Amino acid sequence: MNTSSEKYSLVCGMEVHAELKTKSKMFCGCKNDPFGAPKPNIYTCPTCLGMPGGLPVANKTAIEWTIKLGLALGCKINLFSKFDRKNYFYPDLPKAYQISQYDIPFCYEGVVETSEGPIRITRIHLEEDTGKLQHKTVDGKKVSLVDYNRSSVPLIEIVTEPDIKSPTQAKEYGRKLRQIMRYLDISDCDMDQGGMRLEANISIAPAGSTKLPDYKVEVKNINSFKFVEQAITFEMERHEALLEKGTTPIQETRGWNPNKGETFSQRTKEDAEDYRYFPDPDLPPIRFTQDQIETLRSDIPELPEAKTSRWIKEYKIEERYAKMLSENRTAAEWIESIFKQADTPNDSAKAIVNKKISFEVGEKPSAIIKKIADISTTDNVDTKKLVLAIQATMKENQDAVQKFKAGDKKVIGFFIGQVMRAIGKKIDAQLLRETLVAELSK
Ligand code: ZN
Ligand code: MN
Repeated sequence: MNTSSEKYSLVCGMEVHAELKTKSKMFCGCKNDPFGAPKPNIYTCPTCLGMPGGLPVANKTAIEWTIKLGLALGCKINLFSKFDRKNYFYPDLPKAYQISQYDIPFCYEGVVETSEGPIRITRIHLEEDTGKLQHKTVDGKKVSLVDYNRSSVPLIEIVTEPDIKSPTQAKEYGRKLRQIMRYLDISDCDMDQGGMRLEANISIAPAGSTKLPDYKVEVKNINSFKFVEQAITFEMERHEALLEKGTTPIQETRGWNPNKGETFSQRTKEDAEDYRYFPDPDLPPIRFTQDQIETLRSDIPELPEAKTSRWIKEYKIEERYAKMLSENRTAAEWIESIFKQADTPNDSAKAIVNKKISFEVGEKPSAIIKKIADISTTDNVDTKKLVLAIQATMKENQDAVQKFKAGDKKVIGFFIGQVMRAIGKKIDAQLLRETLVAELSK
């Protein structure tokens, strides 16, 4: 779907940052729990505070999880890799450089399929998060506070090619990425807290053009999929208005204001930033053997898409139910245990999707199957039989029928009781009431 005019098409790539949920931080032993910390600056040490003499040691789990994500997205893996220093000065970065990866990321050349086409993954690299700045007013004075609990938390960055063709595709891509990371159990992707942050690089080109536009606008730090969709739509319209006037949009970094529903300029990039990247001399390069990579690959759980197709084949589940029920890995595994025991798994799928039964994830499959069987009995009372039972009850209770005709609606309750007893089965109350009133009103 193109929300802008037909004259231009969107050219958009995304960069997504997500914090990994390892026990400890990326380069030291401090606890990795920035959102759960009871106080600021308690999960810190000389290394993550950038003190002289603090030496980094890379977190093995974080590296393995990055590679797992790469494999799940069909990436190639660099068997030789390294960490580099990205130099810039800002108070949330105590060392004045961020340890990141420059020319040899762990993963490259993957793909994420969406309903609007594939999105190529350029690279996935691993780096460290910064501290968190808070701008507050304390004792009437405006101050900036910094919390280093988040400093050096493992952070993966997933970069795409400019393959995104619509705002809805950007949203779908982000959702898919989050779902896969949650399936792999490597990140909570908590967007409200900033545990997953989206950035879109946006430009528009005349429809049909194969040349990349000569400008791009970055919208940074977007914390919801809906906002990324809205921000891209907003930018497309803004760029179109400028281009129609004969001006090229300025190459700049913008932010998203969710209250106003618009983007705003943060800084213009007249010169390319010079981060003076160089290999971190405190960290040795990392080597993997193909065998080690294969071991990591064998550890990847079945992903949502594979699960959906297997359910369709194995249990004859309708596609829309299979898609909905495989959303969350824990719930999906539980639901499959129900499919395994059910005679007609698709009926179970339908009952769960339509919330026809009350249940809790983790409940005994046999209990769920019984509940589903109970509703099917309810559903199976056929209307013909019901009408006959109602007519028989009416015949026996002519005085009550007369009362109803005279406007006494209270007798409906009496009839419901009588008919239910006559049928001797549980019956859908709505169906019974409607049929009853129809018969009485004849
Ligand atoms: Zn530390
Ligand atoms: Mn980054």
